[in-house]
Amino acid sequence: MSIHDTAILDDAGHWRSRDLHVLWHPCTQMREHPDVLPLVPIERGEGAWLVGRDGRRYLDAVSSWWTNLFGHAEPRIAQAIAKQALTLEQVILAGFSHAPAVELAEKLLAIAPREPGRASLAKVFYADNGSAGVEVALKMAFHWFRNRGEDKRSKFVALANGYHGETIGALSVGDIPLYRRVYAPLLAEALFAPSPDSYVAEPGETAAECAERAADGLREIIERHAGEICALILEPRVQCAGGMRMHDPLYLRRARELCDAHGVFLIADEIAVGFGRTGTLFASEQSGVQPDLLCLSKGLTGGFLPLAAVLATQTIYDGFLDDSRERAFLHSHSYTGNPLACAAALATLSIFDADDVLARNRATASRMTELAAPLAELPHVADVRQAGMILAFELTQGGDKRTPFDPSLRIGLRAYRAALERGVVLRPLGDTLYWMPPYCIDDDQLLLLAHTTRDTIIEATACA
Ligand SMILES: *Cc1c(COP(=O)(O)O)cnc(C)c1O
Repeated sequence: MSIHDTAILDDAGHWRSRDLHVLWHPCTQMREHPDVLPLVPIERGEGAWLVGRDGRRYLDAVSSWWTNLFGHAEPRIAQAIAKQALTLEQVILAGFSHAPAVELAEKLLAIAPREPGRASLAKVFYADNGSAGVEVALKMAFHWFRNRGEDKRSKFVALANGYHGETIGALSVGDIPLYRRVYAPLLAEALFAPSPDSYVAEPGETAAECAERAADGLREIIERHAGEICALILEPRVQCAGGMRMHDPLYLRRARELCDAHGVFLIADEIAVGFGRTGTLFASEQSGVQPDLLCLSKGLTGGFLPLAAVLATQTIYDGFLDDSRERAFLHSHSYTGNPLACAAALATLSIFDADDVLARNRATASRMTELAAPLAELPHVADVRQAGMILAFELTQGGDKRTPFDPSLRIGLRAYRAALERGVVLRPLGDTLYWMPPYCIDDDQLLLLAHTTRDTIIEATACA
């Protein structure tokens, strides 16, 4: 090792220790740093790579928490932000307007899911992260009924195993015990309908039958509480934080029908699955469904800046028009519609057209299918499932669905470390390993990902 290499390693160590003196990291038991979990100081990003301060390169197979679409430091998005920053960095959006906010709203409404015979989504409300976007949608649905004098409509229906963010309102409609349990006394009451997750289908049941069965459960809840429910919130197609659990698009169709039949708003949380992740631009399209409220964030800015958009119908918007200020939707965040974030989002949307991203993704997704197929044969792989650019491996003790690993084995953590040592960022959800790479991932990188995943699964499950 040369003197130069030692200096680089020292540099990584230097940042690691400065970090641990002052930072409190998200979704982390800080006690596990630095011994159980390595902390990886990153210097820069290049396409699908993250480059560490130790000079090592890490393939970002989780798109930096599902935000990145076209690679790190994508120059077109970076330049759009720089240009905007030199023009207008921020302006209050109450009473004022700016071109990036208007143009982005126009574009989002033009590409939003549509359903024949239904008035299209008509208005855009901005927030500055996914959870805040979910809060906006929940408050809008609730407040709309209040404005109509329907005060009994105060409940939300959400799905078992769903995730909508971690602010108090968003947690109230989430069902991941790890995030929710301790805060339960603070949370608003929600009604949870069965998950349509086809991983837990009954033996012999198809994904569509499983979705129908879950829809029957939803019907029961909606019928039992008719008149008390303002909205149903769900993640179309893939429950991402819930372990990349996937369901048949038929479910959303059924959910739409039930909402229509009972005058309940349908909130589609496409914060993770939007912008091409599941093969179509929006996952709702696969069901031919248009929600009443659509929550977008994460990939919206290509992974550059925090921004959320909530798209609403004209009917919902009109329900707030009144002489009274209290009937208005007063929700606000200081950075609502930040021009830099809007500029990043506009650049992101233009890349979808310029690079024919969805077509490229189709080819990438089928390559992912091919490369993952042999891994299904590994002894502890119980399931390999895919929705477009999301592919997940379920690891269990017996390699079947009925015998999960003892959680104390921490298979996911073992896999995380094993992959990181091999230069790939795989951050499992429990014992679910998944690929959710930036769309720019190339064939060499996919091969590396597949080989590393194979070695990672073998190493992580060797303790079993
Ligand atoms: C990530 C996520 C959120 C929350 O977004 P944040 O920006 O992390 O607050 C909400 N819903 C879904 C489906 C998500 O995946």
